[in-house]
Amino acid sequence: MSYQATKTTCPYCGCGCNFYLESVDGRLVGIVPDKSSPVNQGKLCVKGWTAFEFVQSPRRLQTPLIRKNGELVPASWDEALDFVAGGLKKIVKESGPRSVGVFASAKITNEDNYVLQKFARAGIGTNNVDHCARL
Ligand code: SF4
Repeated sequence: MSYQATKTTCPYCGCGCNFYLESVDGRLVGIVPDKSSPVNQGKLCVKGWTAFEFVQSPRRLQTPLIRKNGELVPASWDEALDFVAGGLKKIVKESGPRSVGVFASAKITNEDNYVLQKFARAGIGTNNVDHCARL
């Protein structure tokens, strides 16, 4: 049996609590809060305690899905990104950039959120930017 504890950051909100993901033989089995973290000082909220469960869920999406003829069909990332880019271009062309809104997420890094708002403002040309923490 091989046991491993891997330090990481909780994916659920912008607080950024630290914990160790425990794994046995390559499968996640638990979480131990990091007592040395200045953010959470050995504590976690209820979401943090269960933050590993989705990783191995059989219901987790493993590939992008595109709706075709009313059904969600697995697609490659290239196909999905082309589909989204094509849809955005069409909306902007038909209805203008202000018809598009971009919603960022507390579950991604500050750097990713910065890039997202830059993409919205400089790429699409809209100031309609918001964040899930306000929803
Ligand atoms: S443990 Fe709770 S408070 Fe801490 S980052 Fe995760 S969701 Fe946020």
